[in-house]
Amino acid sequence: MRPKKKIQTFETLATGGAAVGAEVDVLAFGAHPDDVEIAMGGTLSSLKAQGAKVVVCHLTDGEPTPFGSHSIRLKEAAKAARTLGFDDYLILPLRNRELQDTLPARRKVAEVIRKYKPATIFAPYWVDAHPDHWNACQLVEAARFWAKLVKTDMKGDPWYPSKLYYHLCSHLRPNVQPSFVVDTTGFHEKKMAAIRCYESQFIKKRSSKALEHIEVINRFFGTMIGTQTGEPFFSKENIGVKDLRVLF
Ligand SMILES: [Zn+2]
Repeated sequence: MRPKKKIQTFETLATGGAAVGAEVDVLAFGAHPDDVEIAMGGTLSSLKAQGAKVVVCHLTDGEPTPFGSHSIRLKEAAKAARTLGFDDYLILPLRNRELQDTLPARRKVAEVIRKYKPATIFAPYWVDAHPDHWNACQLVEAARFWAKLVKTDMKGDPWYPSKLYYHLCSHLRPNVQPSFVVDTTGFHEKKMAAIRCYESQFIKKRSSKALEHIEVINRFFGTMIGTQTGEPFFSKENIGVKDLRVLF
């Protein structure tokens, strides 16, 4: 049993949001191993450097793929987690290509939220060509609500993450307007190293332009905020700022 620790997150300091009793700062969900690293590896690396507690949950093992297997993806996910210094990571036994907000899946994800008690959670952006991605978005939104339920036989205590943001790892080339962009300068290289841990997806597939695409996207969003690299995020709710200096 981990000791119960009250933490005050950077995000909470900025917005005055309620994260009292939170055990981890961030719990980031992705449909497949590598989605979270692609979308927000630089941000998570930066958060770790600031002392944040970070947990990543891959909803499926991402298989089958041409060069992967279940055991290969487990090893690659572990290597990527070590590279970015996650405090914990897990791969849920939900099925790749069939991901949906079913009641059993919602229960599993809600139990993960109840276990880690995150201040903030991240889900995939809701516009995507890959059904697993937009289904993951719906699943995490529903599980966030379920996680707070009382009078249930779900494992763990009720918990409601005070903030839900969305990361971008899209199979479309969506015309997006992020709610905010995080400066990942100084952390981008570590992110790319973590992505390269997924050799079955990015190294063996020699024709893939995915790594180049990620570089361009992160440099584009960095340019948009006047930094070397950046990662875009989205919010369906208004974002409050208590101390305007966080925007200086
Ligand atoms: Zn994916």
